[in-house]
Amino acid sequence: MIENLLEVRQKLKSKDISARELTQSYLDRIEQVDGDIKAFLKVTPEKALAAADAADKRIAAGDDAPLLGVPVAVKDVLSTKDIPTTCGSKILDGFIPQYNGTAVQKMIDAGAVILGKTNTDEFAMGSSTENSGFYTTRNPWDTTRVPGGSSGGSAAAVAANMAPLALGTDTGGSVRQPGSYCGVVAIKSSYGRVSRYGLIAFASSLDTIGTFGKTVEDAAHLLHIIAGYDLKDSTSINEPVPDYVATLRDGVKGLKIGVPEEYFVDGMQPQTEAAVRAAIAQLEALGAEIHEISLPHTKYALSTYYLIAPAEASANLARYDGVRYGNRKNEHELWDTYKTTRGDGFGDEVKRRIMLGTYALSAGYYDAYYGKAQKVRTLIKLDFDNAFETVDIICTPTTPSPAFKIGEKSNDPLQMYLEDVFTLPASLAGVCGINVPCGFDDNHLPIGMQIIGPYLQEAVICRAAFAYEQATEWHKRSPNL
Ligand code: GLN
Repeated sequence: MIENLLEVRQKLKSKDISARELTQSYLDRIEQVDGDIKAFLKVTPEKALAAADAADKRIAAGDDAPLLGVPVAVKDVLSTKDIPTTCGSKILDGFIPQYNGTAVQKMIDAGAVILGKTNTDEFAMGSSTENSGFYTTRNPWDTTRVPGGSSGGSAAAVAANMAPLALGTDTGGSVRQPGSYCGVVAIKSSYGRVSRYGLIAFASSLDTIGTFGKTVEDAAHLLHIIAGYDLKDSTSINEPVPDYVATLRDGVKGLKIGVPEEYFVDGMQPQTEAAVRAAIAQLEALGAEIHEISLPHTKYALSTYYLIAPAEASANLARYDGVRYGNRKNEHELWDTYKTTRGDGFGDEVKRRIMLGTYALSAGYYDAYYGKAQKVRTLIKLDFDNAFETVDIICTPTTPSPAFKIGEKSNDPLQMYLEDVFTLPASLAGVCGINVPCGFDDNHLPIGMQIIGPYLQEAVICRAAFAYEQATEWHKRSPNL
């Protein structure tokens, strides 16, 4: 089986395999294992094979586009022209976008073959895919466990070799956390680095697009393709995009790594702590300098995030009233049409967030909740600004423990929210982060290290992750399916 992008590209280039054969082999793999894993909400075999044929023609003509003939999976919160896009929600069941989101379009322009759309917690709200309006994705390493979320479908698809690359989105951890649970590389870009045109909004001041791959090089390659300024997204940043792959091999000699005390806490799984500390020691052995640091406002990140994200979600989700998008439940009165459409269309978690958010934004409470949370957010960002004056990157566990059992936390929202403690601060600060596999626990579940970098410094986190990866063997393991 072909395991990663580098291999895929070599095989295509040397004409060992055609794009059609390659695409067919991934479609076969999906057919073979996705009945168990349920990573995809929609597979698009005809479209994929047609795109593969077009890629084969371009290859024959000597075209060398960076993703030419490469199959990819796309989280179902990104708009795909003529392919249903549901956000994992019944309210958008049957919705077919008329255009591609910019990140999707950039992959297509680079020659990629879209295999289908991957499962997600409804509107990306969750940490396990259990909040999907359709079904729960299973972790390929242990199918009784969650793959993480909300980009659990994309992470599981890559882990189970159903796609060499996938796109996800990360608002508070939804790329890094499933990356960690599924043992794959996952990059959360800095806020504004990747255009969000065509990304269906959850929390607009936090949403970012990220990439999944089997190796750091693969995920970095994809990020390089989708990153950049876009006139269609006024929040995208007009700064040049460095070639993240070109600098991967520059090593970590002299690189200053901060290790924040707040990320090694009582109650986290001891094996996770041990694996991450060993990974940091490995980076030190490769020439990096380790510095103990403090990010003192870390403890407020959870409550800050769970005010800001629901507040923004409540505003963004107001548009789903059955008039313009997706499902509509007709009633005699317009008001009742709204009520029934939204009441039937949204799941419990989405309703919970809309209520929390509407409350936090309501007259008389705005200053006490949303306004206050914004102030604390600034303090959290200042923690990172201060830290990055003395260190180049920050290393932490991605999550407090490996993948949990399906059903274990689904009735306890607070326990579920606690899964995000280590990923939320970087999201609030708008900086970038990567998950890199760094070990397995006694249950053979992957453990991940998070490397956080300064704003727009994706190149340095990729370089550090690559140095670590090349010195270890974790990325060579695959789940037994
Ligand atoms: N788990 C977090 C939440 O439920 C983060 C989700 C995300 O990053 N999309 O909001």
